[in-house]
Amino acid sequence: MSQESWSPTPDIEDLIWKHAVANALRHGGKALVGPVMSKVLGERPDLRPHARELAKYVAKIVEKVNSLTLDDIRRLAEEKYPEVLEERKVREKEKKLPPLPNAEKYKVIVTRFAPNPDFAIHIGNARPAILCYEYARMYKGLMILRFEDTDPRIKVPLPEAYNVIKDDLKWLGVKWDKEFIQSLRMEIYYDITKKLIERGGAYVDLCKPEEFRKYRDAQRPCPHRDEDVEIQLERFEKMLRGDYGEGEAVVRVKTDLTYPDPSVRDWVAFRIIDTEKYPHPLVGSKYIVWPTYNFAAAVDDHLMGVTHILRAREHMVNTVKQKFLYSHMGWQYPEAIHFGRVRLEGFILSKSKIKELLRKYPSKFHGIDDIRFGTIAGLRRRGILPETIWDIIMELGVKPTDAIISWDNLAAINRKKLDPKAYRLMFTPRPIKLIVRGLEVEEIEIPYHPANKELGSRKVKVSNEIWISGYDAELLRKNKIVRLMELANVELEEVKSEEEYVVRVHSVDLETIRKLKLPIIQWVSDADKLRAELVVPKGLRLIRQRGFIEGSVRNLERGCYVQLMRVGFAKFEDLSKGIARLTFIHD
Ligand SMILES: [Zn+2]
Repeated sequence: MSQESWSPTPDIEDLIWKHAVANALRHGGKALVGPVMSKVLGERPDLRPHARELAKYVAKIVEKVNSLTLDDIRRLAEEKYPEVLEERKVREKEKKLPPLPNAEKYKVIVTRFAPNPDFAIHIGNARPAILCYEYARMYKGLMILRFEDTDPRIKVPLPEAYNVIKDDLKWLGVKWDKEFIQSLRMEIYYDITKKLIERGGAYVDLCKPEEFRKYRDAQRPCPHRDEDVEIQLERFEKMLRGDYGEGEAVVRVKTDLTYPDPSVRDWVAFRIIDTEKYPHPLVGSKYIVWPTYNFAAAVDDHLMGVTHILRAREHMVNTVKQKFLYSHMGWQYPEAIHFGRVRLEGFILSKSKIKELLRKYPSKFHGIDDIRFGTIAGLRRRGILPETIWDIIMELGVKPTDAIISWDNLAAINRKKLDPKAYRLMFTPRPIKLIVRGLEVEEIEIPYHPANKELGSRKVKVSNEIWISGYDAELLRKNKIVRLMELANVELEEVKSEEEYVVRVHSVDLETIRKLKLPIIQWVSDADKLRAELVVPKGLRLIRQRGFIEGSVRNLERGCYVQLMRVGFAKFEDLSKGIARLTFIHD
């Protein structure tokens, strides 16, 4: 067999694609030929005799993969090579969660993440999402995604939120096996309610709220509680028919009327919402009798076979309420695990606050994905990696105490993950001009990364006019000699004005500078400069630092991560009208 005639079969080609995708995901969207080659050969040692030919195909496929955006590569992995994502997670998330209570009692472990699609999810919601997914995976069980959207009046669902949440979860790397939307299950809730009434577990209450409160506080039943089942069923039918208006009738689940927490006593399972006035985004005004969160969640957990409920501690009282319903129905309550709340220092997580800001200052904020918000979409736009969020959540685990994630901690984890894949670039905010005398080079080549050679290098045209940051001009004045990174050591000759200095090449070696402990500063050549704007979020403000950046930013992909040397990590957003725009991530 001749080497020339060899070409890969479709399954070999697929294998190359798989490893190229896996490698690209590991390196922020850029696969490397070498490692892909060795993976392929590792799995198919029989291809070694064709290594040379094979390498050409690997290079071709790697090039194709690298031309895709990171999101597209992820999507491709999700669709065609899900095992790649699994492997990646296993490797990255070595942290072990404690075993689930009574796991051995259940044939299949079923968890559920149940967001309300009235808004995007934030880092606090990422906790149950990630934990549900991790536990389902740990026990080879199932994860359910359930949209809890049965409050068209107060917690009004946003039509776009269903998909936004799904996209956020996918970006995080959370996968679910089944998906439900509660507003499409109304008939199921009505059927269960009829059964519940028949079992004497619920009643239709026609008391005004304040009247009922009097009975409740006195730990006594209201007159409607003990009326016949037939009357209850008829009243429920009347509710469904629309015979009662808002506030005129509710369905209550019978509980222990002496239960210490009064909010538990005969809690509301259904209320009437005038959907002519408050139409639901999915089902419009088709229904007016809406289950409360507690009723719908409790019923669904049973019907969907959920074995373990993972939720925040503030739901503890809901667990108490729901258990009354379960006992009326003769159902077995799932295991409930309650963990603490999560806050992210310096970021707004509160839905209502974000909504208010967006309403009051629509032009000042990008949307729910604004980089000043702690929404998953916001953190993603800011440049926080999904792996970082994952690490933090896994670290918190199921601890019952509330946690404040410090920005420093988040940044430290993110930095470690960004560092190997961030292109080093020089950026000079508030630039001032240096006239450099005695410079002998016209072009230099600088690697994009000090260690990761795979990022390659760029060539920089050097002229005798260069720009340094205004902040560094002071260093030059103070120290007289500074090193221009990767270029030369220069000595101050003359301060022509605040905006223009003249320097002379002193030496080129790095040793001199190290010995004298002189500063090394970044610069941008006039022959290679591009205007740049770095947006730095500070609390609720956005500070715009303007300056020059190296022209090689043109070669980078939008959305890629860079490290602006001595400034910090940033996301390259776009290049338009000759200005490169970047978002500051952290230093
Ligand atoms: Zn009553």
